[in-house]
Amino acid sequence: MTTGERAVSIPVMIGGPIERRSAGRGAQGRRSQPSPAPMQTQISPDWVRISGASAIALGFASGRFTRQFAFGGINLLLNYEDGCRSDCAYCGLARTRPGAYEDKSFIRVDWPLVETDQLVERMAACRESLTRLCISMVTSAHAFADTCDITRRIRSEVATPLSILVAPPTLNRRRIEELASLGVDMIGVGMDAVTEDLFRRHRTDVPAGGAGLRWEKYWQVVDDSRQVLGPWKVNCHTVVGLGETDRDLVETFVRLRDREIFSYLFCFNPEPDSRLADLAKSPLRRWRRMQLAKHLVEQEGFGVEQFEFDDDGALVELAGPHDVVEHAASSGVVFMTDGCPGESGEPGCTRPYGSYRPSEPFRDFPFHPTEQDMARIRDELAVEELCPGVRRA
Ligand code: SF4
Repeated sequence: MTTGERAVSIPVMIGGPIERRSAGRGAQGRRSQPSPAPMQTQISPDWVRISGASAIALGFASGRFTRQFAFGGINLLLNYEDGCRSDCAYCGLARTRPGAYEDKSFIRVDWPLVETDQLVERMAACRESLTRLCISMVTSAHAFADTCDITRRIRSEVATPLSILVAPPTLNRRRIEELASLGVDMIGVGMDAVTEDLFRRHRTDVPAGGAGLRWEKYWQVVDDSRQVLGPWKVNCHTVVGLGETDRDLVETFVRLRDREIFSYLFCFNPEPDSRLADLAKSPLRRWRRMQLAKHLVEQEGFGVEQFEFDDDGALVELAGPHDVVEHAASSGVVFMTDGCPGESGEPGCTRPYGSYRPSEPFRDFPFHPTEQDMARIRDELAVEELCPGVRRA
């Protein structure tokens, strides 16, 4: 599942380390156990984890970003004592990644634990500055019911558009309809690997078992979500750098665009101790070119035939109109974080440091890149090598 680095310094573990406490309201009736009396940890739905950036935005933690920018995309993550049942090769939450679940990072970001009701209160108090809310499910038997519970709590207090980054093994069409009826605005599917072979290798045929992660099931959930929520209300997270070719990515962008489904780009960012910890990130040039390619497909109507690939599937030429390519390559928006929009279509979910460390160049920008940033991006992109009619910046 996709959603960087211990990006910010957060001096407190909100909610503290996991400890035993009495059951909350969302858990009623579902964990009947013989004596001794059932005990409960700080788990969902009464507790959730939030991204470090979200913790700062809502005043749960102190810290600052390396650059100043407005931040209103709040990301929540379900929390269970036994974590996520899946074992994806690149994920910080994978079952076989060493360490206690509560100490694990997710997309290399620390996710502090907070009480759900307190979180909703803070959201309501900060509603003017919020742009997008998102609950990330994990593969767990309780994930769907708990996601509905948390959605109701949020929807009763806050109107900010809400996405669910779903765990497909836990869903069917009826459940997707239920999420929509509760006021969920968009559904994200963490496809991550864009070919069936890579999906199987990294997510299905894995040491602790895939826990129901199947390529066909993921696409079924994409299809069902598209039918239930309508055009441009579903997105697939796609990761650059898991072993796919440029052609694989472009074909995926086109396939999704043709169905009015967004592709959201993530750059593979190795999690320490994960099975892919030693796999190198994609070079910046390739990453920038995939950002540009995705934009040309999604916003400018490019088809696969307008991209030339070599025998290894690497992008070598752009055959589209030079002025369109030039305009896109000069547009900062193309290089901003790809995510669900805010109410007026502005970038909503901006996940700072989701694809890079604070010490590294921004892979995607949670703000509009400056003129200086654009000069650097143009160097990294070298678009004139792909499209000789485009001037060198
Ligand atoms: S892009 Fe959308 S679905 Fe993905 S994490 Fe952000 S809000 Fe959630």
